[in-house]
Amino acid sequence: MIVILLGAPGAGKGSQAELLVKRYQIPHIATGDIFREHFKKETPIGKLAKEYINKGQLVPDQLTNDIVRDRLSQKDVQKGFILDGYPRNLVQAKALDQLIERHGWKVTAVININPPQDILVNRISGRRICSKCGAVYHVTNKKPKVEGICDVCGGEIIQRKDDNAEVVLKRLEVYENQTKELIDYYRNQGILQDVSGLEIAKTDKEVVQILGE
Ligand code: AMP
Repeated sequence: MIVILLGAPGAGKGSQAELLVKRYQIPHIATGDIFREHFKKETPIGKLAKEYINKGQLVPDQLTNDIVRDRLSQKDVQKGFILDGYPRNLVQAKALDQLIERHGWKVTAVININPPQDILVNRISGRRICSKCGAVYHVTNKKPKVEGICDVCGGEIIQRKDDNAEVVLKRLEVYENQTKELIDYYRNQGILQDVSGLEIAKTDKEVVQILGE
């Protein structure tokens, strides 16, 4: 099963992906998480990516395609995988097509999570993450048991630097200008499915209807 999750920042791709991982036992591959892991470890990729991420811009395609190619060469993707945050533009989508073809795989579905704009802004501006394990919280919708401390690993909860108001607007603009064209790209191939993205549980039901139990 190969699932591509599309949707603006704050659409809930990560939250839906978590549920899919549990249900289908396949890995969640989020390019944003991979980049954040690199810059936590201060690798050369991390240092480069950070410059783009902190401005809300896309990391260059070549580098992004390379990290995805490496990730998809690992053994745990044999039963399938969920892509979140990749592809982000047509160049990446075409690189992914080639990669999938080379492996002899087939995309099961592209799920377009599409909540209204005000929900996106509220979700991103209130989002907090664990600085250690990346678990996601929200200042009103999903508080940790102890303020500032991650329920999962005890790490410190922080706000992503690119979740501040100014960078968020830039990221939404990048989505409008570059990522949205993917919706037509996949719709024309007949593999795009729209879901509401309003509440996690409701959206999950819609996803199950598409992918099966
Ligand atoms: P995300 O966690 O998906 O919101 O991604 C955070 C940031 O990582 C984005 O704003 C980009 O700077 C970078 N990034 C993540 N995925 C990609 C991608 N597929 N192509 C380019 N940049 C990406």
